[in-house]
Amino acid sequence: MSITLFAVLTIACGLSSAAPTLGGAAVPVPHVRPLDAGARDDIRNGLLQSPTLAQLNRELAASHVVVYLRWNAFLATRGRLVYVAHANGTTYLLAEIASRQTATARIAVIAHELEHAVEADRAPSLTSDADFTRWFRCVGYETHPGAADTDAARDVERRVLAEASSARRRSLP
Ligand SMILES: [Zn+2]
Repeated sequence: MSITLFAVLTIACGLSSAAPTLGGAAVPVPHVRPLDAGARDDIRNGLLQSPTLAQLNRELAASHVVVYLRWNAFLATRGRLVYVAHANGTTYLLAEIASRQTATARIAVIAHELEHAVEADRAPSLTSDADFTRWFRCVGYETHPGAADTDAARDVERRVLAEASSARRRSLP
């Protein structure tokens, strides 16, 4: 899936670094945050079906990157990751997943985009859309003007597709 090397939108995210508290104890804030019911179902099922996706989720939980996740019915590609903002040491990204594909394919594409989010966390500094663009030109390769990809993300997508497909077959009656 392509990394779109321009920010197509800005979300007013209410970017607060304060962790919510429950009875005074800090509650861990998830670093993968679905914005709609479809994305929520996909990530929930994906975490159950794919050890690779679960590992990416753990890596992101320990990272300085937060990924918002949502379905998009009008994407020209199967998925994309865009830079949103940087605040208080955290980089905020948005992964959009084309809704018109099978659930298993969507889970694999989510993993692809989350691998890019892990790659983004390795950048020495990612505080602007220009930094984001430069970083992925550096660690990846241009697939078409304005878009880049990495072999690692493509490998992760293939692995998660196999894991989710096999988990799905096992759950069939
Ligand atoms: Zn990609």
